Amino acid sequence: MRFEGRIYRPPSEADSVLIQLTVGCSHNRCAFCAMYVEKHYRVRPLDEVWEDVDTAARRYPNARRVFVCDGDALSAGVRTFAALCEHINARFPRLERIAAYTNARDLLQCTPEELGRLRSLRFSLAYLGLESGSAAVLELIRKGASPEDMVEMARVARDADIALSAIVLLGAGGTALSEDHIQGTIAVVNAMQPRYLSFLTAMIVPHTPLMMWTRQGTFAPLTDRAILHEARAMLGGLELGETLFRMNHVSNLIALGGRLPGDKASLLRQLDSLLPRASDSVTCICNEEEGLML
Ligand code: SF4
Repeated sequence: MRFEGRIYRPPSEADSVLIQLTVGCSHNRCAFCAMYVEKHYRVRPLDEVWEDVDTAARRYPNARRVFVCDGDALSAGVRTFAALCEHINARFPRLERIAAYTNARDLLQCTPEELGRLRSLRFSLAYLGLESGSAAVLELIRKGASPEDMVEMARVARDADIALSAIVLLGAGGTALSEDHIQGTIAVVNAMQPRYLSFLTAMIVPHTPLMMWTRQGTFAPLTDRAILHEARAMLGGLELGETLFRMNHVSNLIALGGRLPGDKASLLRQLDSLLPRASDSVTCICNEEEGLML
């Protein structure tokens, strides 16, 4: 199996077979993201990808889960992605799930029939970097999608029985847009009703516009206390029917997790007890030497 450059996958895909269909991210513009800055986006030669699937199948014949890399594998086109899913199905007899990072644009370009076909090929989990439900924050961070796009994407995924794992980025709007970030995200996540929801923290990493704006003084990152306040306020406003919630990424100040709505009161109590002790320092800025694996 061959991989080009640094490979990222969600923590929950730690035991999955990784297959790289695309290199980098076709968008590659988000102001906080340095994951693929060193990569030039392209679809890998398909014969090589198919060979990688064959190699992986020989090495891990009992694998049940496959994660397709890189940042937006569906950008290869739904036909190519479906052909890859077909090949994976043919090579892994115990396959249960194919997953990938996705974006609103790629899913909204698919017809219901195409999504149904992907689902029948066990593409059953789409990870989405929602980041925020605020139009102003999404514009600031150059996400390339509106709150309405995000909600619509969740609807088409739900209609196709593809589970959504949405990622919210605490602190993405800085101090200026914090309240907008909170209110917009509550509204959009409630409308989306994702099966999985993660809160990560916006880390200010080198080689990003966010780092440049921070140095110039046009973006004011949140203090630890303000980040926890955002988490508390968002969680408090969520009305979710059945969602597995996680806030345990390396970027988070604390590790929390539970099922919503059942564990909501307990999660809020934990945040309430931590808030008075939270620091008023800004610790989400990484220097050149430290870096951070996101
Ligand atoms: S956050 Fe996702 S969509 Fe944005 S540049 Fe990074 S990989 Fe691409």
